[in-house]
Amino acid sequence: MSTNTTSAYSDFHLQFIAGEWQTGKDDSTNNNTNPYNGDTLVEIQQATKDQLNKAYDAATQAQETWAKQTPAERSAVLYKVVNILDQRQEEIVDWLIKESGSTRIKAMVEFGATRAITLEAATFPNRVHGEIRPSNTPGKENFIYREPIGVVAVISPWNFPLHLTQRSIAPALALGNAVVLKPASDTPVTGGLLLAKVFEEAGLPKGLLNVVVGSGSEIGDAIVEHKASSFVSFTGSTSVGKHIGELANGGEHIKQVALELGGNSPFVVLKDADIDQAVKAAVFGKFLHQGQICMAINRIIVENEVYDEFVERFLSHVKTLQVGDPNDQGTAIGPIINEKQVQSLRDKIDEAQKEGAKMLLSGEINGQLVPPHVFTEVTREMDIAYNEIFGPLIGIIRAKNEEDALSIANDSMYGLSSAVFTADMQKGLRFARGIRAGMTHINDIPVNDESNVAFGGEKNSGIGRFNGEWVLEEFTRTHWISMQNEPREYPF
Ligand code: NAD
Repeated sequence: MSTNTTSAYSDFHLQFIAGEWQTGKDDSTNNNTNPYNGDTLVEIQQATKDQLNKAYDAATQAQETWAKQTPAERSAVLYKVVNILDQRQEEIVDWLIKESGSTRIKAMVEFGATRAITLEAATFPNRVHGEIRPSNTPGKENFIYREPIGVVAVISPWNFPLHLTQRSIAPALALGNAVVLKPASDTPVTGGLLLAKVFEEAGLPKGLLNVVVGSGSEIGDAIVEHKASSFVSFTGSTSVGKHIGELANGGEHIKQVALELGGNSPFVVLKDADIDQAVKAAVFGKFLHQGQICMAINRIIVENEVYDEFVERFLSHVKTLQVGDPNDQGTAIGPIINEKQVQSLRDKIDEAQKEGAKMLLSGEINGQLVPPHVFTEVTREMDIAYNEIFGPLIGIIRAKNEEDALSIANDSMYGLSSAVFTADMQKGLRFARGIRAGMTHINDIPVNDESNVAFGGEKNSGIGRFNGEWVLEEFTRTHWISMQNEPREYPF
């Protein structure tokens, strides 16, 4: 149980640079609003390029000392962060609800995932290790060291801001790096400033974590291009991710990048599946956080024999979902993050109808509240099936048989997550292994994250893996050092 005995954090109108809370010096302001009722939460004077440079200078300096701290010292800070998260759980969940439009259920899921990756990261300082490899050269020994990278640039999105920021910054810091972070404009608090408060309270030395809130035009490209970082960890859309990848490896730079991008998760129901269970999973895997999750179900593919039964049961379950105030315990579907995203959903609804999909369920869009929309007679090339939706709309596709279902599932430029329902585990495994994606869940939803298991996608869903050993490799550099113990003979 959480107990909130400390006073609530404040000063979220300030930047966190070089370990100091300071006013942004740009002319522009970030007006941070509650997506449900439009209330202003905080106004943040944005940062300038000069402030970004100061953040990088501080990070560069602080990292040198931090990398030399003992593993136990670095672990201790991370364990302290876990304790503070627990103490401040209510305050953090409240911010997730009011800033990112999270329902209570989603906020708790996100809090749990954030806590888990922090706990996992606390073990990294003692888990990172090198290797000794044999040599074919007489008298030589080969050592493979894993060292901190240095300063890591982190750019995070608004949908799971707390968790998706923390899953980069906690491992990065644990492994001896420093961080310069740019949170998404819609979630500067939960995506950055709140975590800065937690790390500060946990005693993280000054300068190691910098949170710079600024406009894309002022600091967006600059944070990627800055020469002090050689690694950029980006989570966001495929289009911005491609731009980041080009920037990081264009001009004067060759930088390592981790890109966690968009998705188009198929949810496949084979004819022998437990339909009741598949319906429950489909509803949760589609509508959690209003469908604004990279792993959210984007297409439901159902084998012909059970298509009608699935559609009927799915519809009746979806009709029970409460749309409204995310703070209300009973709400399943809260607000969409901003007006631009609402407009993109309106366009998708129009396009689906234009393309001939049958709209079985709809409802009035009220401000940023978009009720569930369900389409049938959807085909694989329609916009609603082929492109990422990021909202509470879903198309259900009919598959002729298992082979057809697999072909439809793989007909995507994305390859993040996926799911298949079947009573036959052998069949499930065969099907899962046929899917070109980074993650596939048999008899579960595609929305899954475990802090000790490889998370990530392929194709246009990105490069790199989070969690466990995979992120441990990602946030360290490999250094081969050989030692020639006796004079070597050279040909000339
Ligand atoms: P986005 O790409 O619009 O923004 C992501 C971040 O990039 C934000 O912080 C934004 O301010 C920043 N940004 C935008 N332009 C930039 C530029 N030129 N230079 C540097 N930074 C820039 O994405 P979003 O709308 O915040 O998030 C939704 C998208 O993220 C969806 O496509 C979703 O699938 C994807 N996503 C992927 C994962 C994953 O793990 N694969 C997780 C969550 C979200």
